[in-house]
Amino acid sequence: MSNDLLLITNNEKYTTKLKAAFLERRPEINVLVAGDDGAEQAHMALCWHPESDLLTRYPNLKCLHSVAAGVDHLGAALLTSGLPVCRVVDDHQKQGMLEYVLWGALTVQRNFDKISANQSESKWQDFRQRPASDLRVSVLGLGELGQFVARGLAQFGYTVSGWSRSPKNLDDIHCYHSPEGLTELLKETELLVNLLPLSPATKGILNKDLFNKMPENGYIINVGRGGHLIQEDLIESIDAGHLRGALLDVFDQEPLPATDPLWTTKGVTITPHLASDASLATIIEQVADNVLSFVSKGELNNQIDLVRGY
Ligand code: NDP
Repeated sequence: MSNDLLLITNNEKYTTKLKAAFLERRPEINVLVAGDDGAEQAHMALCWHPESDLLTRYPNLKCLHSVAAGVDHLGAALLTSGLPVCRVVDDHQKQGMLEYVLWGALTVQRNFDKISANQSESKWQDFRQRPASDLRVSVLGLGELGQFVARGLAQFGYTVSGWSRSPKNLDDIHCYHSPEGLTELLKETELLVNLLPLSPATKGILNKDLFNKMPENGYIINVGRGGHLIQEDLIESIDAGHLRGALLDVFDQEPLPATDPLWTTKGVTITPHLASDASLATIIEQVADNVLSFVSKGELNNQIDLVRGY
């Protein structure tokens, strides 16, 4: 095997940027793009939203690498192809995610959403300050990002719970698992942060049934994926006065169409999928190391579990 790496993204500018970054930082990697001589011989592909027939076009691929923390963009056909799949794990990205979620938590705790809505009506209204410990925050997903965010929120003083597939024991975080555990956690949740990976098991998990298990006046932060959220249910729960609002970073269709009702739903703040990026430097280093390690030893870092799908 050689140090070839095929770049497959749905954005030509991004492909060019990645190629230039590999050339500058890790010139020993032979980066190929569609149409290059030898592209069909590559064993590893670095992907962002590849087409589902990738393996028909490049039958020599033996490993797929996501350019991101999530792998859902590879699609069911590639995720069940049997090829090993790797992702990026980046400390800088964890810190960025914590900053974003803290913004949402402070908004709820200190009523900055209500204060900003009041300003548009030139309305002066006092809000009593609440201690951070008064805000009960729950994080769905206690993986690389979720665990870092949960710990950071707890360090900041919030009362934090978390939910994962397998049982966990983490200092300062009330840990839950299983569907029954989720119901228990929701009963006590004022601010719900979704940091689950998108999989058949988690698709549509942020729905009316879940919202109804939360006390009134709850707030949702969705930084997982758009596919986790049933938009109509969110809008209905906000309009009905059950939920206070939501901070949404990810959407089924991105960019979110200008006509989407979420834009104008009172209490909803929309950000354009920027909660936190993996740094380009980390992507290049981790992917290049994996190319070399795969070629020399057949070993890979940051592999996902193909059965669990994350
Ligand atoms: P990890 O794979 O490290 O962690 C996933 C966590 O979710 C684990 O704790 C896992 O449980 C839990 N989980 C998975 N499936 C279930 C389930 N069915 N029921 C209960 N818990 C479940 O993922 P990361 O923390 O690295 O990333 C999470 C997601 O964040 C990414 O997949 C991506 O979609 C999103 N993301 C969004 C970004 C943005 O800018 N908006 C940026 C980066 C990532 P267990 O520990 O038991 O396995």
